[in-house]
Amino acid sequence: MEMIIDIKNLKKTFDNGKIVALDGVNLQVDDGEFISIMGPSGSGKSTLLNMIGALDRPDSGMIKVAGRNLMKEKDLSSFRARKIGFIFQLHNLIPNLTALENVEIPMFEGPYKDMMEERAMELLEYFGLVDKANRLPSELSGGERQRVAIARALANDPSIILADEPTGSLDSKTEKKILRKLKELNREHKVTIVLVTHDPRVASMASRIIKILDGKIVGG
Ligand code: ADP
Ligand code: MG
Repeated sequence: MEMIIDIKNLKKTFDNGKIVALDGVNLQVDDGEFISIMGPSGSGKSTLLNMIGALDRPDSGMIKVAGRNLMKEKDLSSFRARKIGFIFQLHNLIPNLTALENVEIPMFEGPYKDMMEERAMELLEYFGLVDKANRLPSELSGGERQRVAIARALANDPSIILADEPTGSLDSKTEKKILRKLKELNREHKVTIVLVTHDPRVASMASRIIKILDGKIVGG
């Protein structure tokens, strides 16, 4: 299997080195894997995810994602737009755009820019949201909003989905539905998924659980 994430001795500090968020992380993920990263609040989960998703740069070490060396990559935002789909705990939908328009947002820069509406409707259909296409986020339930956010994360056919506590704000029934959908995406569409959570039950959806504590991988 080809490795899609390769991280060696990765360090990240904040506040001029006073806060050590990642303290020499090593992590290898195969293409098509579904892993979860589990650890208590403040252990470095989001920081690690943000490094993988090229939202921020590490201090030192080595990080390769989807064949690119992110220590050297000049245009992180274009890398991100082409390769990464992010899902956050709070869906981050744009409140004055419809579900359809929210899903179209990432497409302006990507491979579907000439067929945005068709592509967005296809994704909404996959998530059972066709009849909600013209609604605003405020007119959707929490679970529907998060499904729109996942559809948006898939807009440009990313190689990797990075999900940061994606069900943290949902009730347990809706949580199960969303997690099942992620599992299906991984199985049927071979998308690599990295799911961050502090909840062991959520983590158990993945085929491998990585544990992080005080910025270090401690098991998995
Ligand atoms: P988790 O997602 O596991 O709760 P984080 O990765 O958010 O943990 O945080 C790891 C550590 O880094 C914590 O001590 C946190 O306070 C700190 N940290 C994270 N982001 C920043 C930031 N932008 N500025 C300063 N400190 C930060
Ligand atoms: Mg976090």
